[in-house]
Amino acid sequence: MADYTALRKQLERKREEILQRLNEIQETWHRPVDVDLEEQAQELENEEVLAALDKEGMEELNRIDRALERMDQGLYDVCRLCGAKISPQRLAALPYTDVCEVCATDAEKRGE
Ligand SMILES: [Zn+2]
Repeated sequence: MADYTALRKQLERKREEILQRLNEIQETWHRPVDVDLEEQAQELENEEVLAALDKEGMEELNRIDRALERMDQGLYDVCRLCGAKISPQRLAALPYTDVCEVCATDAEKRGE
């Protein structure tokens, strides 16, 4: 089994970053709402942006967790779809991918 110590560290660092960012989003979110109507509209808009960022962050977090889990199980470089080895170059470029190049290209072709 390949040694993923460096990649694991990278993923864990990224995970911390996202958690911190999500915390900041949560804090911004729970600030009291202004009484000014125009500002309220603006705040609603901000909330939508924050909600999107929040969702994005959570998804990224999930991907990282799954990647770390797969490392623990020794399945990190095994394609989820076809079982082929995912190349180290691909993993270095896309540390949380769980499909090989071929499957990723197929998914792209299908418009996913
Ligand atoms: Zn595959």
